Amino acid sequence: MLKIDCLVSGGVITNYKCSSKCKHCCYASSPEWPNDYMTPSMADEIFSILKSLGCHYVHIGGGEPLLQPDKIFAVLESAQRNNIDIEYIETNASWYRDEVSAKIILKELMKYGVHTLLISIDPYHNEYIPFWKVKALMAACSEVNMGVFPWLMDFWADLDAMDDRKPHSLDEYARFFGQNYLLELPRRYGLNLKGRALKTYKPMMKKQPFEQILKESKPCRLLSGIYHFHVDLYGNFIPQSCPGLSINLSEVSHGADPGKYRVLYSLESIGIGGLVELAIKEYDYKPKSEYAGKCDLCYDIRSYLVLERKLDLPDLQPAGHYKYI
Ligand code: SF4
Ligand code: SF4
Repeated sequence: MLKIDCLVSGGVITNYKCSSKCKHCCYASSPEWPNDYMTPSMADEIFSILKSLGCHYVHIGGGEPLLQPDKIFAVLESAQRNNIDIEYIETNASWYRDEVSAKIILKELMKYGVHTLLISIDPYHNEYIPFWKVKALMAACSEVNMGVFPWLMDFWADLDAMDDRKPHSLDEYARFFGQNYLLELPRRYGLNLKGRALKTYKPMMKKQPFEQILKESKPCRLLSGIYHFHVDLYGNFIPQSCPGLSINLSEVSHGADPGKYRVLYSLESIGIGGLVELAIKEYDYKPKSEYAGKCDLCYDIRSYLVLERKLDLPDLQPAGHYKYI
């Protein structure tokens, strides 16, 4: 059985829709996603399962969770009902309009037990969101005593070197700071090269022969990440670092059937070699001669199953992860 007995801390994804389409987004969020938001009953189900697995606190992320501020309050109420603390809400600050309206939202969030916002500060977000909004939101937080977890302060000087009244493309950053700027960002950011981040950096990554990737195959141990897992608005448990893969949270907490989750099980128990064998034998996948590593091969197979074969597999949810990448 695929089973999780304990979870310590993780994130709850209330929505995938976002105001931005950042090139580093491993969840492949964007404005193209449907306007779905976690419902109160789904939140209740998720929080009660997390509590039963020993998880007492979560952070909230997206997408941009505060795009529709009225919808987050019911989710926060559910967290309170289930005795789950909110560590912080991640936000890109795009929703900031003016000081008065921002303070109303911040004070309302504080009533529901939210005391910290993680505010994104990096060149990827700055392609969409002018820096003045980030600064103004931080100032509003400070005035109402909402804590700020700036992610990452390391980039403050870079963003501040540009005109803060408008967004700036990564090309502008490369022109300003040098051509290696984009290449150095993943290390500075600590980027997880999955989802859209992999798509962005794939052309710059070293290629490996298909056979060599198979030779090095080992189990991906998707269920062992108990500190940074995510659960989304559809009730999918998303393993730490590997978005686009999923098991229904209520099933994995009782023990999910490996026969139902064959993609995930092959990766969990054998590794990329197991997924390749499954894809070739059962789904007529034709491998290429080389890939930018095992995760590129894994994505190529998963995208093929969802987008070309149009399969609605329970372990490749939500399909939007592949569609809107
Ligand atoms: S990184 Fe954040 S702001 Fe950017 S697309 Fe993803 S969820 Fe949206
Ligand atoms: S091969 Fe697939 S499952 Fe394994 S780490 Fe890479 S993306 Fe995740």
